[in-house]
Amino acid sequence: MSTPVSGPSVLPDPLVSERDRRFMAQAQAAAEEARAAGEVPVGAVLVRGDEVIARGFNHPIGGHDPSAHAEMAALRAAAQQLENYRLPGCELYVTLEPCLMCAGAIMHARIARVVFGARDPKTGACGSVVDAFANPQLNHHTTVVGGVLEDECGAALKSFFADRRRASREARAAAAAAAPRASETSEAGASCASPSAPLDSPGALESPVSEPR
Ligand code: ZN
Repeated sequence: MSTPVSGPSVLPDPLVSERDRRFMAQAQAAAEEARAAGEVPVGAVLVRGDEVIARGFNHPIGGHDPSAHAEMAALRAAAQQLENYRLPGCELYVTLEPCLMCAGAIMHARIARVVFGARDPKTGACGSVVDAFANPQLNHHTTVVGGVLEDECGAALKSFFADRRRASREARAAAAAAAPRASETSEAGASCASPSAPLDSPGALESPVSEPR
């Protein structure tokens, strides 16, 4: 998030319609399916009129598929459902700002409107990094609304990454705690262990590793 997430909004934003909130809540429920599968929690629903015709959640790790973003899953499911590779008049609700890949697929599918929750300052293609939809040579079809339930959508992502960092810290601490015992047994028969042996040193195991993202 480019701006700090302050937690769930106390009052609903009067500029966001009840309809947009309702469909975004369904996209949030899809994001929780991604979390349950150990994937970054992003969810999407594809809406035609007042009906959700497809949903999708982020699953590139489990699917061994770099294109398995929530939007792509929802677009594929909707196109199969309607037996049409174009989805005119449909709206896509997604909890995180679409990336360039998804923006391209959204345009190819002729989606009428995209509504997203949290902004993505790393890969967002709806204005955060680039604005693919602002280019009239590329886009003639899609209007974009961002920041719907932004705090809630962002909080789900923040809590996921916080949990993952905590698990990583605990794993490193457990490895560091186990290291002296392993070192004692391996050095039991050694006549002169080098004091600077880097791999036996607990300090080596405590050295920071890059944060998983
Ligand atoms: Zn994407």
